[in-house]
Amino acid sequence: MQQYVFDFSQGSKDDRDLLGGKGANLAEMTSLGLPVPPGFTISTEACRAYLATGSEPDGLADEVERNLADLEMRMGKRLGDPSDPLLVSVRSGAKFSMPGMMDTVLNVGLTDSSVSGLAGKAGDERFAWDSYRRLIQMFGNTVLGIDAEHFDKAMDAVKRDRGVEADVDLDAADLRGLVDEFKAVVRRECDEEFPQEPRRQLDLAIRAVFDSWNTERARIYRRQERIADDLGTAVNIVAMVFGNLGPDSGTGVAFTRDPATGEQGIYGDYLPNAQGEDVVAGIRNTLPLADLERLDKTSYDQLLGFMETLERHYRDLCDIEFTIERGKLWMLQTRVGKRTAAAAFRIAGQLVDEGLIDEDEALSRVTGAQLAQLMFPQFDPAAERTPIARGMAASPGAAVGRAAFDSATAVAWADAGEDVILVRRETNPDDLRGMVASRGVLTSRGGKTSHAAVVARGMGRTCVVGVEALRVDPRAREFATPDGVRVAEGDVISIDGGTGEVIVGEVAVVPSAVSDALGGEPLPDDVDDARRQVVDAVLRFMRHADERRRLGVRANADTGEDARRARTLGAGGIGLCRTEHMFLGSRRKVVERIILARTDEQREAGLDELRPLQRADFAEILEAMDGLPVTIRLLDPPLHEFLPDLTDLSVKVAVAEATGQRDHESADLLAEVQRLHEQNPMLGMRGVRLGLVVPGLFQLQVRAIAEAAAELRGRRLDPRPQIMVPLVAAVQELEAIRDMAESTVAEVAAETGLELRFPIGTMIELPRAAMTAHQIAQAAEFFSFGTNDLTQTTWGFSRDDVEATFFPAYLERGVFGVSPFESIDAEGVGRLVSIAAWEGKETRQDLELGVCGEHGGDPDSIHFFESIKLDYVSCSPFRVPVARLEAGRAAL
Ligand code: ADP
Ligand code: MG
Ligand code: MG
Repeated sequence: MQQYVFDFSQGSKDDRDLLGGKGANLAEMTSLGLPVPPGFTISTEACRAYLATGSEPDGLADEVERNLADLEMRMGKRLGDPSDPLLVSVRSGAKFSMPGMMDTVLNVGLTDSSVSGLAGKAGDERFAWDSYRRLIQMFGNTVLGIDAEHFDKAMDAVKRDRGVEADVDLDAADLRGLVDEFKAVVRRECDEEFPQEPRRQLDLAIRAVFDSWNTERARIYRRQERIADDLGTAVNIVAMVFGNLGPDSGTGVAFTRDPATGEQGIYGDYLPNAQGEDVVAGIRNTLPLADLERLDKTSYDQLLGFMETLERHYRDLCDIEFTIERGKLWMLQTRVGKRTAAAAFRIAGQLVDEGLIDEDEALSRVTGAQLAQLMFPQFDPAAERTPIARGMAASPGAAVGRAAFDSATAVAWADAGEDVILVRRETNPDDLRGMVASRGVLTSRGGKTSHAAVVARGMGRTCVVGVEALRVDPRAREFATPDGVRVAEGDVISIDGGTGEVIVGEVAVVPSAVSDALGGEPLPDDVDDARRQVVDAVLRFMRHADERRRLGVRANADTGEDARRARTLGAGGIGLCRTEHMFLGSRRKVVERIILARTDEQREAGLDELRPLQRADFAEILEAMDGLPVTIRLLDPPLHEFLPDLTDLSVKVAVAEATGQRDHESADLLAEVQRLHEQNPMLGMRGVRLGLVVPGLFQLQVRAIAEAAAELRGRRLDPRPQIMVPLVAAVQELEAIRDMAESTVAEVAAETGLELRFPIGTMIELPRAAMTAHQIAQAAEFFSFGTNDLTQTTWGFSRDDVEATFFPAYLERGVFGVSPFESIDAEGVGRLVSIAAWEGKETRQDLELGVCGEHGGDPDSIHFFESIKLDYVSCSPFRVPVARLEAGRAAL
């Protein structure tokens, strides 16, 4: 027979799957000998069975009955007994903590008859009626589904009547009257009486806790926190202890270290003569925990002792709920506490110093996401700020600047030395230059994987998206809030990428000491101890991660400057050097001439013009990464990016014709551009296709690479370029380029008298390439998985378009829990990657395998790439430390 119910003496902290976090830790504290009120836990399995069928599984009722009888025996009282009632709490508790998301009911077992028994035994009328009104209130709200407002209103009316502020000022008679009011609310709202049978109260409360797993807020919370929807919650039935029994009673929360800063000390809040949620509900002002020493020194000292026991036992920061009933301390909950990023690093460092954990354990407790937060500048915590709106925190940091409503303005102001925040409804690739020029990006639409969010994260720009309250009017060059706050172009605003807040005016910013330190800069002398400890811990765990990790970490960098920065941040090379930006700007015209050339001479002239420029581009990057691999991707973007805009050109020709001045040159150009026009440029003439069709283009690039390398070798440097061909679908494409590249390199070798040989490989970004990896590896010395394009081509949707259309609905329906552009879709896209990696290695044992693209800097994806044993990941320079840390954690 399946066991669904477990006494607190039967479990341990390792049973969170079965007993939920709260139940497992109550069991653990019980076996540690701490004073936990007796009780038992109904397992998550029972909840799952209930949720699947809509009714309690067979045998559950009997088991509850048996455990309850046992509890009654131990307590020497019976549930709801009119003369001396046992009361219990019915508490939710899932495997992962979901604060405030699910339900708990206290004082179950109180009825019209047992309330006087409770009063008599406690010798306190007031206390008994206070407990009863709390039961009706909580039960009414969570079990019967009555809006809390109805009870609050009745409560406020009584307080007003009596002329008192706080509920502690109500006396027994007031509370007795309030109970009548509350019962009337139940009658009115549900057409039935508040249940008077204790056991029925218990069963209904258990059922309500099961049901609370699927409330809307719980589901939304789980989606955000990536908690699985099918875990279910456990239910804990705990004998009540009472903090509302007068001034020598009370309830509180405590932390073994400060969860905000990691500082060691006594942190927490205490509220005399109160029960349960009163502390967090903000009903009355709480006292700092340290005041308890004065009120009840015995309990205080005991609590400190228990806190020490728990921290040593869990070897981590614990948070604790406790209640004092007439001078007797009871422990009601503990768990390893949530903490800020700074506290996470600092506490892990302290615990290693104290010998409680080793460095492996410490590394497992700090995350790349936390590190990323610490690397951004922050708003000065002491600075005053009043947000006018809040959106999604898309890319962390603190940014202050003048609002600019289009890319050109942002660029112009930035060139003039101004700090700018680019404000758009949403961004698209045309905003790129404006985003680069800005300190931060603010949009009123889009989610965490919108263009703005993805690009800003990649560039390390602060970004807040989806601030739906803002009406952004790019034409009027202003935005407004519903409360009528207007911000015009040029006004200074501040945005907080950690909280999503938007603030009018300037908030003071402090630079990130962590970032400086990771870049090799010494800490300033005046830095305080707290920050110094955080920085020390970061550097220490970073060293440890580097020792542990198997995965290499390279950077995506297209300029010498980015390459140098990446190197100081610990990149072991460049995994993706894009060359397209080298062909834009003033050079675009030359490329246009090459593509549209009618004669070989015209084309040659264009190519000759570009070669020295390309050589210099490559020399700078190879020099910055001297001695390390630099994977250079040959030209990739679609053709139309290098041609004049079709619409502009059509207008020009039409206008010329209308005015009778025939412009032959433009008309011919138009015909050519029309001929080359594509409906789906991203699936068109780009990458290797462009390279094969336009003679000389790829050759020019290979020659420039070889010449740059030769030049550096002449200066006794050690350049290590790798030539990467994009968008290959068939081995034949790669073979053709390889032949050309090899003979070009051989030519340069002959001209310079140097021995030159560079690895040639390909991106794997099309499903066909992945599925023919066996063949492709015959012509490739390395694969680099272009997981952005591979995700688009595998799912068949375009990253630039989906965010605004069906992604929200897909996330809502759980088609995916997280956008596949943010974290690799391990089951689909990831499977292609692992098949291709495996089959590629079968053909060529020493095939080098890497990943470039967004996923290379994403923690979950990095763990996946470690699991399939790729050689390296490559990400934006700014993410390199994050990737190093996560690669280390993945190897543990
Ligand atoms: P949450 O998970 O929202 O914190 P809990 O189940 O911990 O909900 O309970 C809510 C409050 O009631 C907490 O302050 C808790 O300490 C208190 N509480 C729960 N069970 C008991 C009990 N048996 N006796 C006294 N107080 C209790
Ligand atoms: Mg709690
Ligand atoms: Mg691509």
